[in-house]
Amino acid sequence: MQQKSDVMDKIVSLCKRRGFIFQSSEIYGGLGSVWDYGPLGVEIKKNVKEGWWRSNVYERDDIEGLDAAILMHPQVWMASGHVSSFEDTLVDCKNCKKRFKAEQVFGKMCPECGGELTEARQFNLMLKTHLGPIEEAGSLSYLRPETAQGIFVNFQNVVNSMRRKVPFGIAQIGKAFRNEITTGNLTFRSREFEQMEIEFFVKPGTDEEWYRKWVDERFGWYVRFGMREENLRKRQHEQNELAHYAKACTDIEYKFPFGWSELEGIANRTDFDLMQHMNLSTKDLQYFDDESKEKYVPYVIEPSGGIDRSVLAFLTDSYREEEVKGDKRVVLGLHKRLAPVKIAVLPLLRNRPEIVSLAKSITGDLKSSYKAMYDDTASIGRLYRRQDEIGTPYCITVDVDSLTDKKVTVRDRDSMKQDRIAVDQIKEYMVDKFK
Ligand code: ATP
Repeated sequence: MQQKSDVMDKIVSLCKRRGFIFQSSEIYGGLGSVWDYGPLGVEIKKNVKEGWWRSNVYERDDIEGLDAAILMHPQVWMASGHVSSFEDTLVDCKNCKKRFKAEQVFGKMCPECGGELTEARQFNLMLKTHLGPIEEAGSLSYLRPETAQGIFVNFQNVVNSMRRKVPFGIAQIGKAFRNEITTGNLTFRSREFEQMEIEFFVKPGTDEEWYRKWVDERFGWYVRFGMREENLRKRQHEQNELAHYAKACTDIEYKFPFGWSELEGIANRTDFDLMQHMNLSTKDLQYFDDESKEKYVPYVIEPSGGIDRSVLAFLTDSYREEEVKGDKRVVLGLHKRLAPVKIAVLPLLRNRPEIVSLAKSITGDLKSSYKAMYDDTASIGRLYRRQDEIGTPYCITVDVDSLTDKKVTVRDRDSMKQDRIAVDQIKEYMVDKFK
């Protein structure tokens, strides 16, 4: 366990030191469980989203994209059941004022300070806000606790505007907010986070087959992006664990340093949400099947993943320490598509203007296609280590010989193998490497 929590400490420190993740409002002491993504964090996060969007929206022909607003009509949350059941049972410590989930506290004493605890109370996880100039009950609104509802309320709009036929899905990436109580483990459970969700609409009766397909598809996605299969598992929910809307649910769990925990949930939401919205809005949300001439409310299979948890899992999974010729090197062996910087161009001598200028011009050329950077702030050995630590797949070194033979050295992050490549061939070489 000691060793495992060490890994977490190392990830936390790497994230801060190298600009992946910072605590929100740090100069004011920080805001609990809210995180900012730094210059490298924003890149890996963007790459995870891009990878997900490409796999689901572009490479399939049965999914459309959507970007619904965070604020929604308050009745949406009545219909979805979040107003009445999106709750945790909590106890407060009368002494230190800390708040705990009732299920985590044994006995009547505070686990932190031994103080007396209050009776358990229901606590809604939705963050409230008010729209308009006056803060009164009628202006009450919520920051969405899941992106899914934006999809359900637009179901008819997408069917009609895109002439879609069931089975088909709608994919969305966006922020969600929950006033979480159990916090810690970096971004794993944040109060503001991002979800990548698909609501896949199917004919009732075909739902169980689609559910199984989606569990396999989503598991395979993480593996295709380089996550080690032995660190992933599927866990099917017991009946008594299921959310109020679900007929079945499987979590894809990752073996984080703090234990197996949910990365993504795939739920069979049945026709619960569309039915609820149909009843409360009194709008007909049934689908008319041209072929069978039937009218029905589709069932929904929902793969719902968290981007922040994925980023954390990809970082943890790819972190390794190695010994190279007596020296320690830290490497993020990230999948090339996820790496925040793809190529670093490094001059061997920074006081030789011709070398610097060639290195800068190579960087400039690569920038139109890749996130490439130039760095001359240390010796070559240190520059390599710095790039390894952030997962840069290729480093290009410009040396004195480059000026005459017009060739540069390309170093592979993982094998550390070096290739000598003609400057005018680099782009082609990289196209092949990033295929
Ligand atoms: P948990 O049981 O861990 O709180 P959940 O079952 O409530 O998660 P869902 O409602 O199924 O989560 O949300 C779908 C996905 O959204 C989760 O698999 C997770 O990746 C992500 N997610 C949910 N809550 C958070 C959070 N507070 N911080 C970061 N990601 C989250």
